[in-house]
Amino acid sequence: MFDKSIAAYEDAKNVIPGGVDSPVRAFKSVGGTPPFIEKGEGAYLFDVDGNKYLDFVQSWGPLIFGHCDKDIEEAVIKTVKKGLSFGAPTVLETDLAKEIVEMYDNIDKVRFVNSGTEAVMSAIRLARGVTQRNGILKFEGCYHGHSDSLLVQAGSGMATFGSPSSPGVPADLTKHTMLCEYNNIEELKKCFETNDDIACLIIEPIAGNMGFIPADENFLEECRRLCDENGTLLIFDEVMSGFRASLTGAHGVVKQKADIVTFGKVIGAGMPVGAFAANSEIMANLSPDGAIYQAGTLSGNPVAMAAGLVSLRKIKADKDLYSRLNAKVEKLLAGFKKAADENNIAFQPNSIGSMFGFFFCDVAPKNFKDVGTCDFDRFAKFHHEMLKRGYYFACSQYEAAFMCDAISDEDIDNCISAANEVMALL
Ligand SMILES: *Cc1c(COP(=O)(O)O)cnc(C)c1O
Repeated sequence: MFDKSIAAYEDAKNVIPGGVDSPVRAFKSVGGTPPFIEKGEGAYLFDVDGNKYLDFVQSWGPLIFGHCDKDIEEAVIKTVKKGLSFGAPTVLETDLAKEIVEMYDNIDKVRFVNSGTEAVMSAIRLARGVTQRNGILKFEGCYHGHSDSLLVQAGSGMATFGSPSSPGVPADLTKHTMLCEYNNIEELKKCFETNDDIACLIIEPIAGNMGFIPADENFLEECRRLCDENGTLLIFDEVMSGFRASLTGAHGVVKQKADIVTFGKVIGAGMPVGAFAANSEIMANLSPDGAIYQAGTLSGNPVAMAAGLVSLRKIKADKDLYSRLNAKVEKLLAGFKKAADENNIAFQPNSIGSMFGFFFCDVAPKNFKDVGTCDFDRFAKFHHEMLKRGYYFACSQYEAAFMCDAISDEDIDNCISAANEVMALL
């Protein structure tokens, strides 16, 4: 039933490292062969063997309207016919920037890039340039893309400077990156007490890269306070939570506001788009207005902008989109929880808006270390059994899940029935 995917995977491995262009796709943490995808259609994915899956990955977040949304498709095709890229300004960029500026009262200007990684990398350069400091404070388990200075892991001791988490990253490039525990106020305070060179604190205010773990409200309040007291810029990395947790992402859910916001995923509706944004004062430092250099040949690409623009306008016009999506999420998770309880399986579901997640453990994890105590074997089994039944969830307990508007109530009922069968096998 996976014969063609298995063959395609072997073939790919000969010419692409690990057969994939992003490591998570290789299914390493659950084992087995990743299905090779032939096409998407609404809520569904179809693999090269003809298997059909209800998709809770949604390209890792971007596709809030599901696959092949007609309005987005139409806008892309129309734009493609006028040329793929000009390397010159287009009105589409201004239009998309305006949509974002209108939504956020802490954002006056937006610069578009091509990925979340690039957005964060540029936001950090901006923060460093503005504050004339070097230090970056980040949290263990938050992912901000694969740029050198963010690939850090904890050394020994608390509130430590990180060491590279990947070969190929010189220690010189991570020596300014401090790593603290998520949701741990004491550690955060200590970090600020012992460092006076922190340019920015970067956080996923609703974390989706260590499974789904929202930051505590008082923790975010402390982040904001410590940044203000120390002249540090607060960056909310909303690459995943943006237009997912609510219309204005985490900003629409938590009480604090960031100085710089990064976007990706939903902002491009499946096309490669990232962005970083802030008030006029901060953004005035960016080239060509200011001295902080940042550039991109394909940045603000018209096809990508057209997709993002139509998608954002659709999102904005649909007043109860997020409550509708969250109602579906809650129904699904309640069904899963009931099935887990009936089988005495420790299960911790959680969600905000269209983002959700679940852990196989007794207590809801608050940080990266807690996630490590969850039952990974059980997760792997759950994943494969659900996949066999046609339900495509992220292939790692360290990833979040996403609801899209194309998933129907009937899809959810069927998925809960499948989970009932599967939980009994765990
Ligand atoms: C996905 C993600 C990134 C990286 O985005 P890419 O487009 O994969 O480079 C950065 N930050 C967060 C919070 C993300 O979820």
